[in-house]
Amino acid sequence: MIDEAELRHLRRCVELAAEALEEGDEPFGSVLVAADGTVLGEDHNRVASGDHTRHPEFELARWAAANMTPEERAAATVYTSGEHCPMCAAAHAWVGLGRIVYVSSSEQLSAWLAELGVPAPPVRTLPIHEIAPGVVVEGPVPALAEQVHDLHRRFHSPR
Ligand SMILES: [Zn+2]
Repeated sequence: MIDEAELRHLRRCVELAAEALEEGDEPFGSVLVAADGTVLGEDHNRVASGDHTRHPEFELARWAAANMTPEERAAATVYTSGEHCPMCAAAHAWVGLGRIVYVSSSEQLSAWLAELGVPAPPVRTLPIHEIAPGVVVEGPVPALAEQVHDLHRRFHSPR
């Protein structure tokens, strides 16, 4: 169940995605939260540098591997504006992180990008459960998904 505290983390993810957009990057943001609700880390996409592995979920997974025990990782939750891509889902599972809650699904993102005429990415867009079947996943969250849609529309629209 997604309660008010969880919605707050998801709203922060959307804020981080908006910050990425303001910095000229793709609008994705994520927050890593410990079992007791403490925010341990947050990040947004940084692929504008040219390194397309700089996704926030990937950075948080590597941070978790370096700074948390296996038990702490398993009990933590990653909140994110958009469902993990296959690279990030794999990293999440390899480091043994816990639940994932996302605002918008990869399926929604694919539909939005197709609608905007964006060419298909070099890595196929697959749902997390196809990559990491053991991870508990919740989403999409319709109350916030339209905001994420709007950020992607702004990123890909000619200005
Ligand atoms: Zn990713």
